[in-house]
Parts: sequence; C-alpha cells; structure tokens
Amino acid sequence: MAAKKVCIIGSGNWGSAIAKIVGANAAKYNTFENTVNMWVFEEMVNGRKLTEIINTEHENVKYLPGRKLPPNVLAVPDLLESVKGADILIFVIPHQFVSRVCDTIKGNIKTDAVGMSLIKGVDEGPDGLKLISDVIREKLGITMTVLMGANLANEVADEKFCETTIGCKSKAHGPLLKELMQTQNFRVTVVEEADVVEICGALKNIVAVDDRLRSDILHGQSGFSRHISGSCGVADLITTCYGGRNRKIGEAFARTGKTIEELEKELLNGQKLQGPATAAEVHQILKHKNLVEKFPLFNAVYQICFQGHPVKEFVTCLQNHPEHM
Ligand code: NAD
Ligand code: 13P
Ligand code: CA
Repeated sequence: MAAKKVCIIGSGNWGSAIAKIVGANAAKYNTFENTVNMWVFEEMVNGRKLTEIINTEHENVKYLPGRKLPPNVLAVPDLLESVKGADILIFVIPHQFVSRVCDTIKGNIKTDAVGMSLIKGVDEGPDGLKLISDVIREKLGITMTVLMGANLANEVADEKFCETTIGCKSKAHGPLLKELMQTQNFRVTVVEEADVVEICGALKNIVAVDDRLRSDILHGQSGFSRHISGSCGVADLITTCYGGRNRKIGEAFARTGKTIEELEKELLNGQKLQGPATAAEVHQILKHKNLVEKFPLFNAVYQICFQGHPVKEFVTCLQNHPEHM
C-alpha cells in the first residue's frame, strides 16, 4: 500500500506541538510519507518570514518557542499547495478560521482524504449547535474524525506524559490515526463516540474562562462530561481550568478589568482564545431554543465577557440555578 501523505493545517501552539509528534511518527513508520506539510499562516517575525525560520531552524519561534520540530516537517505558506495530494488532513486552527480555510481548499483535496479535527469550538447551525467537524465534513465532503484530550501544547511538546482520545466511527481509520499520533508519552484511546469527544472539548473552554466556579461545573452543569471519563472529558476540563490560556485570561480579566481582546493581545502573543467566542456562540443557540435560564454558568460567562456584567455578580447568577429552585 502506498504511504499516506499527511498535512497539518495550522501551526499555532497546539499545531506545532502536534507537528513534533506527527513528524516523528511519519519518519518512523512506513505507513506514512516522511515529509509532513504544515500550513503556516505567514507572518513576519523579527524581520523574517515565519515559514523560512521554521524550515531553516526547525522551530516555531513565535508559537512554540524553545522546542525543535523534526526536519521532515515542512512549513508551507500556500494553503492549496500544502494540502495537495494529502491522504490525512489534520485541522488545528482557531475555530473562527475554519470556514474560510475550508472554502479555500474545497475541490482541491483528495475526495477519499480522512480529516481529523483537533479544534475546540462550536458553530451555530439552523438546528442549533453545530460541531466544527460537521462544518468541515459538509464543506469538504470528507470523512471526519476528532482528537481531543487533557493536552496542553507546551506540556505535550515537552514530552510530559498525557492521554488523549480519538473519536472515530470507522474501524479502518482508527488504527491508522492512532499509529500517526501515539508516542511513549502521548497515549491514545480510540472511541466511536466522536460527537461526545468533540462537544466535551468545545464546552469546557467556556468553563475555563471563569476562574471561580471550576468545582461547581464538575458536579453541576457538566452532564456532558459525566458521559465520558476519558482524557477528553473531566480530565480536560480540569487541565484547562488549571493550566490553560482561557483560565489565564479569565483570571487577568477579573483582576485587571481590561477587555478580553486587550488581554489576548497583551498576554498571548498571537495565540487565540476559544472560550469567549464559544460562550457567545452557545449563548445564541440557547437563546433561540429558549434555554438560557437552564444554563446559568454559560449565561454568566457570556454576560460577564460581552455585556459588561461585573465579575462579582457571578455567584448571584448561579444562585438562580434551576436545579436549586
Ligand atoms: P494558537 O492559538 O496558538 O495560534 C493562533 C494561530 O492562528 C496561529 O498559527 C496564527 O498564525 C493563526 N492565525 C492567525 N490569523 C489567522 C487567519 N486569519 N487565518 C488562519 N489562521 C490564522 O493556535 P492553537 O493553540 O494551535 O489552537 C488551535 C486549536 O487547537 C484551537 O481550537 C484550540 O482550542 C485547540 N487546542 C489547543 C491546545 C493548546 O494547548 N494550545 C490544546 C488542545 C486543543
Ligand atoms: P486553552 O486554549 O485554554 O489553553 O486550553 C487548551 C486545551 O484545550 C487543553 O486541553
Ligand atoms: Ca515514513
């Protein structure tokens, strides 16, 4: 069987950490072509193109500084060029850019390519919540799978031990994707319930923005994570709430009174938050379905982030939790 060609669409903090793993496994196993293309949203860093820096120094100095990428990971600035001929497409970009990226590559990818989304976020569809993997599937017509877990990019890049979950309905693709992603310190479980895996990953980012009610969510509103005890469920919720960017910005927001946008610019050096945008999308969906009152924590995060409600009002919002009435 011909070796599979892999393309990573995205090269932020997580995209680069994943490129370390995928690059090493592609070089190690005959199943995959050695060269792994990584689409890089081109920008200038210290007067040089980021792709040029990555391809000469093998380091994404902006989004994953201090960690080397395998030399067989090739940074490609042209999106269409990067996906050409790929059998496996790994989507790892902030969720707000997904539609545009899919519209660009539509019709220019293999029809039997397999996609894997590492993106945590949701979209709003006519019937309510729409998964990002569904957006990609609908736009591109390819088979989609997901990978989500309690995985902080810097820790994974430092080869700290952690687990992750691949959600994949097809029995044929599961082992292939596991071979591509698993290492000694990044352990992969494959499950069929891809939707549950994805929704857990998306919604926990809203919770992480709030710094004060992490424990509440664990036994309150988190029915979704009770369904899954794997890495993509409660473990991810806890990890992100203690060590993630959403938590970091949430805390700074409460402390400084600056806006989320200001703090994102000031503290994240180009990295993007997914929690506040997801809170806004989920709020729209709940509003259309007349369900806002049933989700006071999500509502409170939305009101604080987007409607100027003071952070200290947070507990008041939750005192009206329907479960307590
Ligand atoms: P990031 O937030 O570190 O970086 C932002 C990326 O967006 C950069 O590569 C930047 O070049 C790119 N970008 C900026 N403007 C763009 C545009 N107009 N079009 C396309 N790209 C543009 O990215 P990340 O951490 O790799 O996150 C990607 C996804 O992975 C997110 O959904 C995130 O929730 C998820 N994720 C992240 C982590 C983590 O620890 N960082 C862990 C698990 C999942
Ligand atoms: P943050 O985007 O809050 O850093 O969360 C990363 C993540 O998804 C950990 O699994
Ligand atoms: Ca190989």
